[in-house]
Amino acid sequence: MSFAPPVDLSVVLLHDGMLNKEGREVVTSLTLIDVHDIARSARTYNATSFYVAHPSQHLRALARTLTEHWLTGYGSTYNNNRKEALSAVQVVASLDDAVTQIELRTGVTPVLMATSAKDGEGMRMSFEDARSHLLKGDPALLMLGTGHGMTQELLDRASVFLSPVKGPGMYNHLSVRSACAIMLDRMLGVR
Ligand code: SAM
Repeated sequence: MSFAPPVDLSVVLLHDGMLNKEGREVVTSLTLIDVHDIARSARTYNATSFYVAHPSQHLRALARTLTEHWLTGYGSTYNNNRKEALSAVQVVASLDDAVTQIELRTGVTPVLMATSAKDGEGMRMSFEDARSHLLKGDPALLMLGTGHGMTQELLDRASVFLSPVKGPGMYNHLSVRSACAIMLDRMLGVR
């Protein structure tokens, strides 16, 4: 089964309100390979937009330098596939800015979908249910963390908390870009 519109799922890669390995709240740095690879996954699965959210104007400028290289610079003539993937990237300062952009485009507030590698407490939505939810056509925003994941305060902003992606064993340390690709495939992939 393939999806046609009205599915409207965007992705946001967050760096503010993250935990470090000691469990303290930090702002993480920008990892350019995350921008590249998540853009490619977002384009492959027809995500509406991929927001890269960073509170530092210097790191937002770095993200824009990367995207402009592939959209209008030498990269645009060298690799058209990458140009197409990076054209959906929007650099913003915060989760709120990404939400506002979706509100301006659609007139409604997107359903925030939180993600984590941990089981944690509370209800989690299965990917099958998330897929059905998305098929109703309401705009949704998949929240991706960095570092050691999102603070509880940030997770609590979401109305949907997706189940963690799990392998067969106890080891569960996927990169955010790998986890994103798996989650997009489960929610938007062809069955
Ligand atoms: N222990 C952290 C956590 O709470 O998810 C790992 C953080 S991971 C390096 C960065 C981000 O990748 C997470 O915030 C989440 O968005 C995503 N992620 C990584 N592994 C995941 C998994 N198994 N299931 C769902 N999301 C995952």
